[in-house]
Amino acid sequence: MNNKDTNSKKRKIYTMAPRKPIYEGKAKQLFEGPEPGTLIQHFKDDATAFNNAKKGTISGKGVLNNRISEFLMLRLHDMGIPTHFIRSLNMREQLVKAVQIVPLEVIVRNYVAGSFAKRFNVQEGKALGHPMIEYCYKNDALGDPFVTEEHIFAFNWCTPQEMDEIRMYAFRINDFLSGLFAGIGIRLVDFKLEFGRLYENEREMIILADEISPDNCRLWDIKTGKKLDKDRFRQDLGQIEDAYREVARRLGVMPNEGAESSYVIEVNAKVPEKRKSSPAKTKSKSSKPSKTKKKK
Ligand code: 5GP
Repeated sequence: MNNKDTNSKKRKIYTMAPRKPIYEGKAKQLFEGPEPGTLIQHFKDDATAFNNAKKGTISGKGVLNNRISEFLMLRLHDMGIPTHFIRSLNMREQLVKAVQIVPLEVIVRNYVAGSFAKRFNVQEGKALGHPMIEYCYKNDALGDPFVTEEHIFAFNWCTPQEMDEIRMYAFRINDFLSGLFAGIGIRLVDFKLEFGRLYENEREMIILADEISPDNCRLWDIKTGKKLDKDRFRQDLGQIEDAYREVARRLGVMPNEGAESSYVIEVNAKVPEKRKSSPAKTKSKSSKPSKTKKKK
């Protein structure tokens, strides 16, 4: 036997076990997790807007969103918000708890922007009297229409008790994230959340699911007003990757350049002490949901 044969016999080749795909969305994919009740959430570079009418790829977006969302989910967990995040697996994937998704997009707004600006013909950037919540029914075929609690209860999408929890969590998340982003010079204009039901020990609880990233938040630089979020893609503003990287950099979670190929996760991206603590709070009041429909 020659040397070459010996080496090839000794060398172990590790292949990834095929994973069962569970769901493929616009920006993420879900696979069956390693243990029952878990899923692997994979962040893609794909981007879509206007209900799939606009499609594109933002190179490196998946890696950045994975890191940003991990960071924010962990901070929210620290302040008592239950989330689906378990741990990061690699540059693009995280292990999450499997939940039954409540079919609602929960949109929190602090300033006028996007579909709200269009619907009411109000200038973007105007501060709202107080933070407000709107709900959309998660249904691509219908263009995610805006709905009220009346629709939600009539269609049984969730119970009044679950709705109370969702509203309470959404406002708490807004208070916390508004302060956290303000601390790094970013205005949290609005964002979209998704919640799910977790069945544990014969108990059902509502927990935060999906992601929190520049894909589903509007983030504006406080000093310059520069958009640091997916609106750069939606509105063809250019410098999309730079904007996402800027958010990651300011949060202190910028992945190592070129680390993806070796699946190395930067471990020195420690959060400075002052960012770890709960930043300045903003007062929020509850409000009735908008009864208008969403224009996509
Ligand atoms: P708007 O209703 O103004 O279009 O969106 C309000 C906020 O929710 C924005 O931060 C936007 O990014 C987020 N949002 C609303 N719908 C979706 C959606 O279908 N996908 C994502 N990624 N974000 C959404």
